[in-house]
Amino acid sequence: MKIAIIGGGAAGMMAAATINENNHKAEVFLIEKNASLGKKVIISGGGRCNVTTGLTDIPTILSKYPRGGKFLNSAMHQFSPQILQAWFENHGVPLKCEADMRVFPVSNNGKDVVKAFEKIFSQYKTNILFNHQVIKINKNKEGFVINFKTQKPLQVDKVILTLGGQAYRQTGSTGDGYSLAENLGHQTTELAPSLSSLTSKEKWPEQIAGISFTNANFSVKAMKSTFTGPFVFTHWGISGPAVFALSSLIAFEKFDTNKPLKISLDLLVDLKPEKIITDLKKFILANPHKLFKHAIQQFIPLSLATIAVEQIGIDVSKKNNTISNKELNQTANWLKNIPLTIIDRRAGDEFVTAGGVDLAEVNPSTMESKICPGLYFAGEILNIDGFTGGFNLQASWATGHLAGLNSYK
Ligand SMILES: Cc1cc2nc3c(=O)[nH]c(=O)nc-3n(C[C@H](O)[C@H](O)[C@H](O)COP(=O)(O)OP(=O)(O)OC[C@H]3O[C@@H](n4cnc5c(N)ncnc54)[C@H](O)[C@@H]3O)c2cc1C
Repeated sequence: MKIAIIGGGAAGMMAAATINENNHKAEVFLIEKNASLGKKVIISGGGRCNVTTGLTDIPTILSKYPRGGKFLNSAMHQFSPQILQAWFENHGVPLKCEADMRVFPVSNNGKDVVKAFEKIFSQYKTNILFNHQVIKINKNKEGFVINFKTQKPLQVDKVILTLGGQAYRQTGSTGDGYSLAENLGHQTTELAPSLSSLTSKEKWPEQIAGISFTNANFSVKAMKSTFTGPFVFTHWGISGPAVFALSSLIAFEKFDTNKPLKISLDLLVDLKPEKIITDLKKFILANPHKLFKHAIQQFIPLSLATIAVEQIGIDVSKKNNTISNKELNQTANWLKNIPLTIIDRRAGDEFVTAGGVDLAEVNPSTMESKICPGLYFAGEILNIDGFTGGFNLQASWATGHLAGLNSYK
């Protein structure tokens, strides 16, 4: 049996390795338009490759996917983060789980992840067709004909589509998979960037770009929801894990300068406003002739304290002994509810694509198409996306594994 796996990223490599290791009779063709495998895997996690999560409770893990969590249930039980970690360890990639439950190779090098697959492919003499761009797939009586941009067509029995989404297009994931799937009768949902930074209307974040907080709380007024986690101010607004989670949940919200998204930021999650006021008063009593921004500095860096005073409307040259109770209240309120007006997402630097091949048309127990027998899907091409923390790669490994296992049956 000849099986073509189209796309040599995380899902495609796992599907190919799974077939190689479980069915020695199947002939695997791993087809990749780049000249090498796993370009995105190598750059993931800042080059360290956050391969999966250290979480073990499957319902908790599935709750980290704004889209596709329920669909992933079967794949995730069969190839859980724990099973995946054992798999990598057995294939010569020791892993470590960091305090925030992100799992990385001990070497901190994503290349080692790809090398583990390359070793399997050389052991099983897998046919890897590099520089082969698939432009169309036709179904015929014998199975499928894969048509390439420049090379001769290839006849196979089964096909697994693992062409990824359309984020970070320079890695090769240019959204080609959607039209290939549509040509075979599938529907794709609306697509949107997810896990992106956000642009604010306010220009002041630029002045403190690089200042980060480990535990801030974002409230989105329109959605009545809050997100807590690390974030960083950037030249254009805000970024970091809590912002990525927010961007994921608002992936399909329409907002711009005319219809902005109002959010408020609490930098002092563990402090009540009354406690902030008490601490400010104590500082004022001890330092009556110091500038008021230094009283605020006990909570946040001085550069942001200066911005706070400006934003609240207090004269920057005002000394502590001239500050009124009203101004103290305003300060505590600002620190707990910093208003930010979100007008754009940083499309182009997003990590994943939200949306994809409609999950209603794919069997979640096998990854086989319900429309076109012999056709399978795995990875980001599907309408599945998760938060940061290893969840997107985990979804690709788990669905790639399941598609591989079922494709040769
Ligand atoms: C900068 C960045 C950092 C990330 N970090 C993490 C992280 O640390 N942890 C995590 O869990 N997730 C991370 N992600 C997300 C994760 O990398 C992806 O969700 C995952 O790699 C998707 O795997 P995939 O196999 O479905 O698709 P891809 O990895 O995108 O692979 C698709 C492959 O198909 C090939 N292809 C496309 N079109 C064609 C064609 N026409 N013919 C032949 N081949 C084709 C592409 O060249 C590519 O190699 C990150 C993403 C980015 C962009």
